[in-house]
Amino acid sequence: ELPAIQGRVEFKDVVFGYEEADRILDNVSFNVEPGDTIALVGATGSGKTTIVSLISRFYDITSGKIEIDGTDINSVTIPSLRRQMGVMLQDPFIFSGTIMDNIRYGRLDATDEEVIEAAKAVQAHQFISQLKDGYQTEVNERGTRLSTGQRQLISFARALLADPRILILDEATSSIDTETELALQKGLETLLEGRTSFIIAHRLSTIQNATRILFIDKGRIMEEGSHQEL
Ligand code: ATP
Repeated sequence: ELPAIQGRVEFKDVVFGYEEADRILDNVSFNVEPGDTIALVGATGSGKTTIVSLISRFYDITSGKIEIDGTDINSVTIPSLRRQMGVMLQDPFIFSGTIMDNIRYGRLDATDEEVIEAAKAVQAHQFISQLKDGYQTEVNERGTRLSTGQRQLISFARALLADPRILILDEATSSIDTETELALQKGLETLLEGRTSFIIAHRLSTIQNATRILFIDKGRIMEEGSHQEL
């Protein structure tokens, strides 16, 4: 079992390949303090997704070590590790049901009031309250269609309810209207507060607000620093 964590993450000379002979990551080392926001930037195929998927142990590394709060992640159970992490993909998972249920999925015992509070905090409330049935709106393939930006806002509210110490986010690349874009930017700021986060960043605002930027090129960290330093 991984005990309750603060969110320090350390990669020590991590080597990884999807095939044994590959070296998709070549001696990656970095150290992240609790609460830091890390923006991962780099060309397509450089290894950004691979790095974040190793933090939640989707694959076994070839050599090196990944530590959380000083504990080797290979020495704890996968469920106890993943329970303390929130992972948000580009096109967040929405199941068929109400918007209320979709947000509550973050913490099943949350009350309606807590769900609405979370939605307000991440700027999702406004678009939801404009729907005819508000939080009771049924969403599925045949029901109300949500835009990618709106799906991300729902996933932000869900993540805020779940309250993990470590957050992994793959920012949407598809075009998002200006109003939703602004809500996402503000909502993200609230969500990141007090958590260690790794963002595969596509928006300039996210990169500018990050504590540190890791530039990845062909499975290596080429540069790191803040937006001002680089
Ligand atoms: P993008 O910006 O396109 O998402 P990325 O920087 O996230 O790219 P990765 O997805 O980490 O890059 O991919 C790094 C390398 O690993 C690429 O060469 C890719 O082809 C390879 N790769 C990624 N996933 C797999 C997989 N499941 N099996 C085999 N090879 C993979």
